[in-house]
Amino acid sequence: MGFFDALSRGLERSRETLNEVFYFGGEVDEDFWEDLEDTLVMGDMGAEVAIQVSDDLRDAAAKKNLKTAPQLRRALAEQLEQHFVPIERDPFSDTPSCVLFVGINGAGKTTTVGKIASAMAARGKNVVIGSADTFRAAAIEQLDVWGQRAGVPVIKRDRGSDPASVCYDVLDEADKRGSDLVLIDTAGRLHTSPELMRELAKVVNVTRKRAANMAAGPMPVSVVLVIDAATGQNGLNQALEFNEALGLDGIIMTKLDGTAKGGIAMAVAEKLKLPILRVGVGEQVDDLQEFNAKDFCRALVG
Ligand code: GDP
Repeated sequence: MGFFDALSRGLERSRETLNEVFYFGGEVDEDFWEDLEDTLVMGDMGAEVAIQVSDDLRDAAAKKNLKTAPQLRRALAEQLEQHFVPIERDPFSDTPSCVLFVGINGAGKTTTVGKIASAMAARGKNVVIGSADTFRAAAIEQLDVWGQRAGVPVIKRDRGSDPASVCYDVLDEADKRGSDLVLIDTAGRLHTSPELMRELAKVVNVTRKRAANMAAGPMPVSVVLVIDAATGQNGLNQALEFNEALGLDGIIMTKLDGTAKGGIAMAVAEKLKLPILRVGVGEQVDDLQEFNAKDFCRALVG
């Protein structure tokens, strides 16, 4: 399934409600604008963005004399697109690069690490996977399976090891192997969220320090948040918390294949001013795609 198809399906509910708004007879009147604003606000993009989009569209419609449903649809898609942040540096293809994957359990971190490792190894990158989720034994096994499939080594330590020291070891190993892409999975659950954030902050610090001293020269470190799109507004709150604690570089939105809450992608991108680097559209190795804001907005508006 392609990106556009997957999105079209995922965004069906939002699109159907928008369709109702666009069925107006004759003139665009005050009711149309109120309906549009209500519909956008009820979606998952968040009230703030929704109101701004609706106001901007109203201005654009007045300025350009837009009256018909197709004209307004197109203008709406263009307005929505402006709320996404372009990718300046892709931490997966612009190597050397070390990427720390963070996010709550079940978001899809391990799967995403596996998918990216496969894709980038196939493109000729010298990839190493690190398993710094030392709480969940299943995460290490899962990564092993992905690593074997991709022909990529998985560096791991015993369950319960200090995750920051695992990251240090992973970079040592990457240094020895002359790897140019290091993908590190981290834990998603501790007893409390401040505890998790403290642990991850240490992981980020240690990783940055070690990565600055690679034999081949400094390796940039990116912190990428993986969010399950189905978590809706809750996903936005998670994103804010992770960003405040760790300073994120980008977002990967998973499970867009199975949700009608795709609008959350926009709320996160807008609120955090962060690019969406990839989207997950299924559980298989190829089900990870580059994010295209234009397609996304086209799918949302219909
Ligand atoms: P982690 O706890 O963050 O490492 O999450 P996992 O990688 O273990 O993923 C949790 C579940 O979500 C697994 O069953 C994955 O197969 C599934 N999953 C991950 N990404 C996607 C996606 O894009 N679409 C769908 N449908 N399932 C996904």
